[in-house]
Amino acid sequence: MPAPSSAPARHLLPAPAHTLPAAAVLQALGSDGAAGLPEAVVAARRTEWGPNQLAEKVRTPAWRRLLAQFQDFMIYVLLAAVALSALEGQVLEPVAILAILLLNGILGFVQEHRAEAALDALEALAAPAATVIRDGSERDVPAAELVPGDLVCLEAGDQVPADGRLVEAVGLRMVEGTLTGESQPARKQAAEVVPADAAIGDRRNCAFAGTAVAAGRGRLVVTATGQGTEVGRIAGLLASTQVDPTPLQKELAAVGKRIALVVLAIAAVVFLEEAWVAWVAWRGLGGQAQEALADPTFRAALTAGLLVAVSLAVAAIPEGLPAIVTVALSQGVRRMAERHAIVRRLRAVETLGSTTFICTDKTGTLTRNEMAVRLALVGTDAARITGEARVEPTGPLAPAPADLALLLEVAAANNDAHLNADGVLVGDPTEVALLAAARALAPGLRAPPRVAEIPFDSERKRMTTLHDLGGRRVAYVKGGAEVVLALCTGARLRGQVVALDEPLRAVIRAGIAQVAASGHRALAFAVRDLGPPPAPADPVGAAEPSVPVAGEVERDLTWLGLLGLVDPPRPEVHQAIAQCHGAGIRVAMVTGDQALTARAIAADVGLLGQGRVVEGRELAAMSDAELSAQVEGISVFARVDPEHKLRIVDALKARGHVVAMTGDGVNDAPALKRADIGVAMGRVGTDVARQAADMVLADDDFATIVAAVAQGRVVFDNLRKVILFLLSCNISEVLVVFVTALVTPAAALLPLQLLWLNLITDGLPALALGVDPAEPGVMARRPRKLHESILTGRVQLGILGQGVVMTAACLSLFYLVAPRLPGTNPGVERTMLFCALVLTQLLHAFDFRSATATVWRPSSLRNRWLVLGTVGSLALQGLVVYWPAAQAVFRTAPLSAVHWLAVAGTAVAAVAVMDAAKLLRVAVKAGRRSTA
Ligand code: ADP
Ligand code: MG
Repeated sequence: MPAPSSAPARHLLPAPAHTLPAAAVLQALGSDGAAGLPEAVVAARRTEWGPNQLAEKVRTPAWRRLLAQFQDFMIYVLLAAVALSALEGQVLEPVAILAILLLNGILGFVQEHRAEAALDALEALAAPAATVIRDGSERDVPAAELVPGDLVCLEAGDQVPADGRLVEAVGLRMVEGTLTGESQPARKQAAEVVPADAAIGDRRNCAFAGTAVAAGRGRLVVTATGQGTEVGRIAGLLASTQVDPTPLQKELAAVGKRIALVVLAIAAVVFLEEAWVAWVAWRGLGGQAQEALADPTFRAALTAGLLVAVSLAVAAIPEGLPAIVTVALSQGVRRMAERHAIVRRLRAVETLGSTTFICTDKTGTLTRNEMAVRLALVGTDAARITGEARVEPTGPLAPAPADLALLLEVAAANNDAHLNADGVLVGDPTEVALLAAARALAPGLRAPPRVAEIPFDSERKRMTTLHDLGGRRVAYVKGGAEVVLALCTGARLRGQVVALDEPLRAVIRAGIAQVAASGHRALAFAVRDLGPPPAPADPVGAAEPSVPVAGEVERDLTWLGLLGLVDPPRPEVHQAIAQCHGAGIRVAMVTGDQALTARAIAADVGLLGQGRVVEGRELAAMSDAELSAQVEGISVFARVDPEHKLRIVDALKARGHVVAMTGDGVNDAPALKRADIGVAMGRVGTDVARQAADMVLADDDFATIVAAVAQGRVVFDNLRKVILFLLSCNISEVLVVFVTALVTPAAALLPLQLLWLNLITDGLPALALGVDPAEPGVMARRPRKLHESILTGRVQLGILGQGVVMTAACLSLFYLVAPRLPGTNPGVERTMLFCALVLTQLLHAFDFRSATATVWRPSSLRNRWLVLGTVGSLALQGLVVYWPAAQAVFRTAPLSAVHWLAVAGTAVAAVAVMDAAKLLRVAVKAGRRSTA
């Protein structure tokens, strides 16, 4: 592990960064306010300061985690019993028991290790990135690679990657709650200088790692990284994030405890019974009561009884249930990650499978986010824009060239997209498309210099920039078409500015509607002449672009026109939505875009259906009760503000839905947190949204959500399979020992055999069921109820039934069939019972391949891990029966072909009965459904 850079870059600085002007900090760090650090310096600093990350969390060493596998009360008791029997002179059995315990522990250790590895890999995937300027060009780098002196770009929604001094701050407001506890965003100002003793919250010219940008944008020169940052100092607290158990883990822990009590009671009865038998034998031989414990034979019998009872408890108490959940969930996490869904919280895997309602963004999620300008409305004159950048009028009059040129100038000037080092346009896809169109349609275009701006915000749905146009100030406004139109009082029509009277407004509205109804995103442009700039009052403030007040600038605008952008639906979305409908999952679109555009896209991808289209302001007018009454009938929420998303989630939850909600912006974070599954966009999403989300879509694709839901269902199915399998097998073991202990003088299964059974069934087959491939119908049935227990009363009864069937079959073999077969003796009969239990349990695992179809079909064999596991287990069992050394330890006797036939017949009979019961249940259910 590289040494953390514990000291901040302070020694490079003559004084704390917040007490110095930005220029002084830049100079001291050898950086430049425009070009950043030279690459050569970066490399050297990285070696000197180490990576920009908090110290790795302290890991429990492997040997301790292995040891933890044995930290269980029943294991201690078993070890004590083993020690006792060793004292009695036993050698083979105690050693073998220890070996099996060890194997079992290693198995558990390996599973947990794999689960952890899957989660670690996730953390790496979710590693934050930062936009940095080096050698004058902008690039995205992993935040860990930042060094002191780096110039970092910040914009709304970004998480600050390191501590630093602001060099530029435009309307910058930061949420610093993680450090200061203050939930209100704090204003930042680059030009200020703060006294040395200012508290963190008062250092208005600095930004700190771990805080986030609420609004505006800025540039930061890094002064401290990794452990040297303010959070680094308190990181001891943060690094050990506690993972609280998921509901399922809690349920199973509780169930495990209840089962343990029952098993312990039965084990106690078994022990008492064995002790009683030994006692009666001792007395029968004329032994004195007081001398019983002094007699080696009596003591041996007693220890043997104890060992059986304790082994039974160890084998049958499902102490590993919560761990099984962890393993299964993290396997789900891994598979989802392969499908580009990065799960940030384990419990999300559990919840995903129960999702009943998905609220999705439009842009980029349902659509490709590959926008292109296709339509223009210049003033009131419509035109088509071809792929070859030709303007073809679609109305009676062609757009006036001068007006179109002005519109394009505004589109290019009021735009944050830019060319990167490779000559590719980067930035918000909408703006990239607009800039690309402007460059194609007006090649020589030069935008006037920008002096101030009001950044885009999904609530305002517009953005404004102020420019210096030959000594005058002009405001350029771009935004949602009706939003901009509402701010206009004039319009530019064929070179003339005219008053925007009602008839003209209606004509423009009709033009907007036409563009939107064809599924285009309509962005409108308007201007205002603000006259000569005010004389700078104070020289320091003038150096900094101030943020204009929206109400003062964005009024009395002159309408220029709009550009219509296509954003084709993603090809896979249509099918994904159909799949949701088949799976009983509703889908609604929640978008900031206007109703007509949203409706057109919704219809296109097949999610409109019979549902209504409701706009944000209608929603705002509804009471919570009204909303919740209507919410299920709405397919499209258009022109919504981020806070509306919160209300939609609440309304759906009130209707009992399990809600997945997507989001990408800063303001979406509350809704993402409130939803059962918050889904953030990995590509266009902000750090803040990602932090708030349960799941991040690496490809921003709606179909990925659906794939994750399907995977969530599979995980849950498999978990259920494993649990039902293990519990039913354990029941059969307990019952066999219990009954044989009562009926015959001693339990028919030896302690070692019990532990072996436990190892073989808990081992390979359970693991294989945990990765069982999806049943064909996973997305053809209704969602599971979220808090429905795995072990409902009915399921418990089913498990008990299966345990009884397996017990009955094995005991019939033992008591009725085996004694009548040629060549049997008590040793052979016990071996047959032992083998029959193993075989029945192995075969029983195949029962779980399908919850509805018979086990006697070829596709039961389609889980190759299960087949391999079964073959492996059988081979091991063969070893136990035929290898002389193992025979001595396990006290088994070799079986003949006839004996094996009887054993196999028993297993087949038991599984046939359980299979028939399954088919019967399915038939009854189907019958009930058809009569209902
Ligand atoms: P969505 O992603 O659901 O379409 P957004 O919240 O991103 O919604 O945008 C809402 C509306 O704001 C858009 O429909 C558009 O009219 C407007 N808009 C989007 N991006 C910009 C931008 N960069 N500048 C100005 N207006 C924008
Ligand atoms: Mg958007």
